[in-house]
Amino acid sequence: MKNVEKVAGNKNFTAVNFGKLTLLPEKADGKAFLKEMTNATGTEISLSVLPARTDLPIFHTHKQNEETYLILSGSGKFQVDDQCFDISEGSVVRVAPAGIRGMANTSDEQMIYIVVQSKENSLEQYSMEDGVLLEATPLWK
Ligand code: ZN
Repeated sequence: MKNVEKVAGNKNFTAVNFGKLTLLPEKADGKAFLKEMTNATGTEISLSVLPARTDLPIFHTHKQNEETYLILSGSGKFQVDDQCFDISEGSVVRVAPAGIRGMANTSDEQMIYIVVQSKENSLEQYSMEDGVLLEATPLWK
């Protein structure tokens, strides 16, 4: 994917920037996978742009990973197994590995969405259970 720039990083983080999301490739499946780019070890996250009025006829399941789709713009249809429903900006859809999924952008604007993929039932602690509050000096001041 073009226009990806590594912004910063060290042993504890990797930051990349795509620039304006409207600059992602104008092909049927403008998709960038972030695991390699960011050195992630527990999730695969993809950032996608589906052009206006475009089906994504890639029905699929997963072997062990669940997926959570976060729709950031556009609107259309999402199908899981024998159910089809509307999606739009703000929609969030979690699909179990066995769910047969596919989607379409039926709107006149591009659909930007994020998919978070992680091993089903692998999350042992989260949010403040896992977070540790610390004193630190903000370097942006
Ligand atoms: Zn998938």
